[in-house]
Amino acid sequence: MLEASKINKSFNGTQVLTDISLEVDSGKILCIVGPSGAGKTTLLRIITGLEQADSGSFKIDGQPFDPDSNNTSNALIGVVFQDFRLFPHLSVLENITLAPELVLKESRTKAQAKAKDILSQLDLADKADIYPFQLSGGQKQRVAIARALALDPKILCYDEPTSALDPGLRQSVETLILRLKSQGMTQIVVTHDMTFAQNIADKILEVKPAQEL
Ligand code: ATP
Repeated sequence: MLEASKINKSFNGTQVLTDISLEVDSGKILCIVGPSGAGKTTLLRIITGLEQADSGSFKIDGQPFDPDSNNTSNALIGVVFQDFRLFPHLSVLENITLAPELVLKESRTKAQAKAKDILSQLDLADKADIYPFQLSGGQKQRVAIARALALDPKILCYDEPTSALDPGLRQSVETLILRLKSQGMTQIVVTHDMTFAQNIADKILEVKPAQEL
């Protein structure tokens, strides 16, 4: 279980997050919703160690957790970015094996075997040797998810997973997120899409813009 308690963050004197607390149980899905500019992405960046909170604390399974440790080889929290951030000059397989080889120090053989296994689970087995520009938007996203899963995260976070996709693909993202849930993955999803959130969430956290507090 991940718990965050009284997270505060301001940028240049403007308070963006005020005393935000959240809890997500293992194997469950928390959706973080709220209007544009409310601070959803900032909260996700803090949880994943990409941004530092001004104050507040975290626990994972009851133990204090420093999101900054997520920038090390022991990353417990994976993240799938809104724009996927695939490496354009690397094949799909290389996109997935790069971090396990460099960060987890896995052998190439092990990293490739694991990557191929994840690719098959995500119905991408035939895409291993092609490059990101040859993929559709939905396929790019699944490669980004595969890349995050290859680092064996305890929790997987997504920033606006439906926003870069054709509306028709929302259903397939829902299906994939729910499939990962059925395999026990804990997931945190930032979205402004309430229908999407209601379809997948076990719990919804609404982040309000600072002026509405
Ligand atoms: P959207 O739905 O439009 O993506 P959001 O709810 O995710 O919005 P954030 O991206 O977290 O909102 O931004 C919250 C506020 O913090 C905004 O006013 C934004 O301009 C500001 N902000 C975010 N990151 C920074 C930064 N690095 N420096 C200064 N201000 C920032």
